[in-house]
Amino acid sequence: MRVLGIETSCDETGVAVYDTDKGLLGHRLHSQIDLHAAYGGVVPELASRDHVRRLPLLLRETLALTGLSMRDVDAIAYTAGPGLAGALLVGSSVAEALGVALGIPTLPVHHLEGHLLSPLLSADPPAFPFVALLVSGGHTQLMRVSGVGDYALLGETVDDAAGEAFDKTAKLIGLPYPGGPVLAKLALEGTPGRFKLPRPMLHSKDFDFSFSGLKTAVLTTATAPGFAPEDRADLAAEFQAAAVEVLVAKAMAALRHCGLRQLVVAGGVGANLALRAALDAAAAKRKARVFYPELELCTDNGAMIAFAGAMRLMAGEQVEASDGRFAVRPRWSLQEITPPQAAA
Ligand code: ATP
Ligand code: MG
Ligand code: FE
Repeated sequence: MRVLGIETSCDETGVAVYDTDKGLLGHRLHSQIDLHAAYGGVVPELASRDHVRRLPLLLRETLALTGLSMRDVDAIAYTAGPGLAGALLVGSSVAEALGVALGIPTLPVHHLEGHLLSPLLSADPPAFPFVALLVSGGHTQLMRVSGVGDYALLGETVDDAAGEAFDKTAKLIGLPYPGGPVLAKLALEGTPGRFKLPRPMLHSKDFDFSFSGLKTAVLTTATAPGFAPEDRADLAAEFQAAAVEVLVAKAMAALRHCGLRQLVVAGGVGANLALRAALDAAAAKRKARVFYPELELCTDNGAMIAFAGAMRLMAGEQVEASDGRFAVRPRWSLQEITPPQAAA
């Protein structure tokens, strides 16, 4: 079965085709980074309009890339939430319109389920159950994952998400948008420990996180008298070390708590190489393994949405040809998700 995936939840337009026998056939992505850079953040109205402009083009490109026509597609998976309402509406309406026109089923997919399952797209995927560390721009959660749609929350951030903390910290020290990857790059040139930042909630004995205090500590340091532009690399390195230390400690504690040896990392911050190195080292000590998505599939993309839809179909999710009705869910907790509902 071939599943077309459409992602438009924020500032990336993504389209992909996943074949349940052959795997990922191809995907195309357009990032709106340049569009929003002048504003220092995503402008929702501009995001929606750009999805409208790009989606038809990306659909055509993906079909050309995979040598398929729309008639070769058996189902359409699209991001129905969470995300920006206007942006979600673009992907959802295009997906449902195509579903009606072609007389094929559509599957509304939870964006975070897409992130969460994306490491299973790799050549050497983990088997259920596993612990998942979801570290994206909007979320930081630890979960016990027992199967598709079976996500038990162990803990989450009480304030900023990890990616948000990277982005805000980068902005505070004057790095260009989007800050996370730029900050990570600068951190490579710096030495952690010269400036001292807190490790929030490191010893809280739960699986929750807090990153807003860390951000404030960065601001205090960066605005102190005598702080020079050339000190920024050391501060970036210390910030990254602090965030990584807490993420690694809590992820390892979650593995211990669940009695599991497989950790899956998903979301944009999963592209951070310092985080990957520290997780791998800590996991090796406890004979555990860490699984990541391919680097290019860490941030938003259509492949993870096509794949999540395909996983649900393969697990027996009952679907019908689209009747054209749809609803987007800008706010939607992953814990509201249920396992695929098989036909009775
Ligand atoms: P959500 O999925 O929670 O709705 P999102 O879709 O905006 O949020 P993602 O696309 O998963 O989030 O990830 C984007 C985030 O990842 C940004 O905050 C970005 O700064 C961060 N990020 C990307 N690469 C890196 C990196 N190398 N180091 C640290 N952070 C990074
Ligand atoms: Mg994005
Ligand atoms: Fe995302």
